[in-house]
Amino acid sequence: MRKNIVAGNWKMNKTLQEGVALATDLKNLLADAKPNCEVIIGTPFIHLATVAELVKDSCIKVSAENCADKESGAYTGEVSAAMVASTGAEYCIIGHSERRAYYHEDYDILREKVQLALAHGLKPIFCIGEVKEEREAGKQNEVVKAQLEGSLFNLSAEDFGKIVLAYEPVWAIGTGLTATPEQAQEIHAYIRGLVAEKYGQAVADDCSILYGGSCKGSNAKGLFANPDIDGGLIGGASLKAADFKEIIDAF
Ligand code: PEP
Repeated sequence: MRKNIVAGNWKMNKTLQEGVALATDLKNLLADAKPNCEVIIGTPFIHLATVAELVKDSCIKVSAENCADKESGAYTGEVSAAMVASTGAEYCIIGHSERRAYYHEDYDILREKVQLALAHGLKPIFCIGEVKEEREAGKQNEVVKAQLEGSLFNLSAEDFGKIVLAYEPVWAIGTGLTATPEQAQEIHAYIRGLVAEKYGQAVADDCSILYGGSCKGSNAKGLFANPDIDGGLIGGASLKAADFKEIIDAF
C-alpha cells in the first residue's frame, strides 16, 4: 500500500540555528501526536546532519532539496548523493521547478541525479508540473508525461518503486494560487495512469503522488481527500511548525 506523506521544503531559508529551532519545535509538537502520514522535512544541505541527528528518535524523516549530477570529484560547491546519504537523510527532492528554471536542470541532468540518489540509497521525491502558459494552453498532461519519460521511465520497476512523485503546478508555487482539488485529482489520476501503463497497475497503486503549490492548513483536507492525492510537498507553510502540523493533521 502506498504511503501518505507530508513533506516540507524549506528552500533557501533558515540559518543553521533557526533550522534547528524549527525542527525542534516540530519534533515537540509531534511528540504526542501519532501522525497518520509520513512526515519529512526537506532542508538545505548545511542543516542535514544536525537535523537528522535531532529527529532520529522521532517520526520525522529528513530530505535534501537537491544533489549533484556527478558522483564525486572536481565540482566546486556541489554536494553529492553519497554525501547527502552520509548525513542520515533518507530522501532527496529532485527536479523542483526552481532548479529546472533557475539552474537549467534538464531531463538528462535530472535522470543522472535520480540514478545517483538511488545508487546511494536515497529515495527521490521527484517534482513535475507545468507552468501557467502550459496550463492555459491545456498542455499540462503532455508536460508531465514528457518530464516522466525524460527522467524516470528509464528506471527498472524495482527502482521506480522507490520514487515519490510530487505534482507541483508551477503557477501555484509560492503564489497563493492552488489547483482546485478537482484539477489536482484529475492530473494525479492521469499521472498514475502513465505509471500503470509503463510499470503495471501494482507499481502505480503503490506510488505516492504528492500535491505541491500553496498547500496550507485550510486547503489540505480538500486536496488530500482525493483518491490519487497522497499528501503534499509544502514550501511556505513548512517554515512554521504550527502551520506544518496543521497540514499533517489534515490526514
Ligand atoms: C514548493 O516549493 O515545493 C511549494 C509547494 O511551495 P509553496 O507551498 O510555498 O507553494
